[in-house]
Amino acid sequence: MRTKKNATAEIDFGGLVNALPGMVWITQSDGHGSFVNRSWREYTGLSLDEALAHGWQTALHPDDLGAFLNSWNAIRQSGVAQEIDGRLRRFDGEYRWFVFHASPLPDSGSVDAHWCWLGVCVDERSTLDGRLRRFFDMLPWQAGFLNTAGISEFSNRQSLNDFHMTQEQLEQWRTSGIIHVDDFEKNVIASTALLSTGKMYDEQIRMLYPGGEYRWTRARCVPVRDAHGNIVRYVTFQIDVDDLKRAETLLAAEVNLLEMVARGEPLGRVLDALSRHVEVLCHGCFCSILMVAPDAKHFRVGAGANIPQAFNEFLEGRTIDGGNDPCSLAVVAKSSVFTADVLEDSRWRGSEWPSLLKVYGYASCCALPIMSGSGEASGVITVYRPKAIGLTPAEQDLVDRFTKIAGIAIDRARADSALQMRERELREALSQLAEGQRLSKTGSFTWDVLADRHNWSEEVRRIFGFNQESTVTMAMVQATVHPEDIDSFESMIGDAVRGAPDFDLVFRILTTQGELRHAHVVGHRADLITDRPVFIGALQDVTERELAEERLNRARAELTHVARVATLSTMTASIAHEVSQPIAGILTNASTLVRMLAAEPPNLVGAAETARRTIRDANRASEVVKRLRAMFTKKLPTLERVDVNDATREVVALSSGELQRAHAVVQTHFAEGLPAVSCDRVQLQQVILNLLLNAADAMSGVVDRPRTLLIQTESGAKDSVRLLVRDSGVGVDPNAVEKLFDAFYTTKAHGMGVGLAISRSIIESHKGRLWAVANEGPGATFSFSIPGAPPEVLAGPVDGLDSHD
Ligand code: ADP
Repeated sequence: MRTKKNATAEIDFGGLVNALPGMVWITQSDGHGSFVNRSWREYTGLSLDEALAHGWQTALHPDDLGAFLNSWNAIRQSGVAQEIDGRLRRFDGEYRWFVFHASPLPDSGSVDAHWCWLGVCVDERSTLDGRLRRFFDMLPWQAGFLNTAGISEFSNRQSLNDFHMTQEQLEQWRTSGIIHVDDFEKNVIASTALLSTGKMYDEQIRMLYPGGEYRWTRARCVPVRDAHGNIVRYVTFQIDVDDLKRAETLLAAEVNLLEMVARGEPLGRVLDALSRHVEVLCHGCFCSILMVAPDAKHFRVGAGANIPQAFNEFLEGRTIDGGNDPCSLAVVAKSSVFTADVLEDSRWRGSEWPSLLKVYGYASCCALPIMSGSGEASGVITVYRPKAIGLTPAEQDLVDRFTKIAGIAIDRARADSALQMRERELREALSQLAEGQRLSKTGSFTWDVLADRHNWSEEVRRIFGFNQESTVTMAMVQATVHPEDIDSFESMIGDAVRGAPDFDLVFRILTTQGELRHAHVVGHRADLITDRPVFIGALQDVTERELAEERLNRARAELTHVARVATLSTMTASIAHEVSQPIAGILTNASTLVRMLAAEPPNLVGAAETARRTIRDANRASEVVKRLRAMFTKKLPTLERVDVNDATREVVALSSGELQRAHAVVQTHFAEGLPAVSCDRVQLQQVILNLLLNAADAMSGVVDRPRTLLIQTESGAKDSVRLLVRDSGVGVDPNAVEKLFDAFYTTKAHGMGVGLAISRSIIESHKGRLWAVANEGPGATFSFSIPGAPPEVLAGPVDGLDSHD
């Protein structure tokens, strides 16, 4: 009886293995074949003898054999069953893909064991290679693989689509020009390194796309190794980084240009660099930059290094006419003008433009206006192309960005040149100012009150006798002010510190060199400069003026004295009368007194009364004499507070004899509450006396009407006081009134003709005015007005009699 076990042992395994539809063979671990089944032999067409030993390996595809053996070696080492892909040659020479399963035979526990191989034919797509290809085809970027010799075996669908090429065409990359000529060499170097050392290829290169456009691609290629580290193929991936790369390049270009602008490099250099950047970023184009000339009617060439010289010369100075060429149109319309094919564009038909561009080899032309910050077109960037293809939207965008930088550069250059011009003008103005200050002896200054900071012009320093370098302080200034003027100077400073908006003072300076100078300073607080008081002002050296005034005053005093003495002579008779009357009274009283004292008994009461009358008359005489002395003494003028009514009354009293002799009917009308004026009392009285005597003279020949003389005072505007003397004399010619005030003009036989001239200069030296008008009726009116005394003028002696010698 056969046991079940025996029945199993009786199975013909050799027959079974031969009957299997799959391929089976057995090798020793060194690859020495000891068995191949029938299916194997039928498929490969090799006999058992041919297949044994290493003969079975001849059926494997030569390209796969190395990898196969390597993989098997790894499997053998690990002792674990695994699969290996490989192509097996059919009897007719065609290769088909198989998956080979290798497993050690159960009885073998060592590396010398036998291995059983099972080969299953698989569809190409299900092999690792096939799966890889399908996977690669799904990728949205370019990918593929190369064999160990670096030859492209497979390029994915994205690659073939992108380049519009077959696998075979792509393999010709060395000669097809698909790689930009400038990137070719680095590609070769990196490829060689990859193949010789296995170092990863990682480069950015420009690849040619259908339509002639090169795009930046980041290509990476890595070796694929088997379990032993042997390279079995290379996998490549390529990603289009053109947008990124352009953005990077654009950014770098923009940064570079803006740095140039910021550094203030000459506009020509900036525009030249800009045009070159445009040419790099817009492949195959030529960039020209035209600027609008200051007259806004012509172009000036700004840049165009790669534009033919003759074309640049043609463009230089060309009129901007708006309709005839793309550049003008872009500037006038302030918008971009794109002409893809200049020969076809109807806008330029009839203009010289198409034929001109043809001469220089350009077919397309895109003009983009450069806008300045003020909204005007300051130029135009024009991009020419030899081919009749305009700019792509990306390129338009890019050039547009460059027009913005060009706008900034042009604005900056114009602002710079305007600034330089202003600086030049300012320098000239300053030197003129300095010259003007020197000539007019007027300097300017600023004074920061709280900081005690002083900014003085050269001239102010010169007037004070300070050197140009010294730091000025208020203490230094005060130390040079004349001791007699320091009080008024300090009170001015005090007012300014306390907030007065202006100051105005004439004071004297005693320079450290011992020179005396008169200075007139005016200042005004400039609130807008800082948050604290700063005065700006001017200071004039008025030394000469003041000295001249002093001389003038002396001369006037001399002349006034002469005139007064002359007046005295005309008044001798009436003065003699004024004096002789009380003296006669004294004489009469004296004899009466003697008589009364000599009587028996002496008339003491009468004598006392008579003595009193004598004293009265003596006082009257002495008073007259005092007044005369006061009037006719030679002295320099002094300012005091004067009541014009009082001063006038005295003059009227003094001249009353004279006026009576002239038969003048005197009327006085003195206004009440008149403000005091600040003047030299004697000089003022002389003016009044002069007017009265002239009026009396003017009426001396009048017989047909009363000789009325009105003397009137009144207050005028701003505390001024006015006095008028109206007569009914011969009158004045209204057209020649001013002549009367000329020195030495007289119509009188014994006149000197200086009275009115002196009177006017006296009144004007008191900042007043003296004038004459013809009356409505007969006669003339002479008036003066004189400003009221400021409060600081000290009250002077009211009668003015006792203060003079
Ligand atoms: P003088 O009295 O010595 O002539 P003035 O300068 O005082 O010098 O006067 C100049 C001239 O002005 C006089 O000669 C006279 O012709 C004219 N004049 C002055 N006052 C009067 C007046 N009140 N009416 C008309 N003419 C006058």
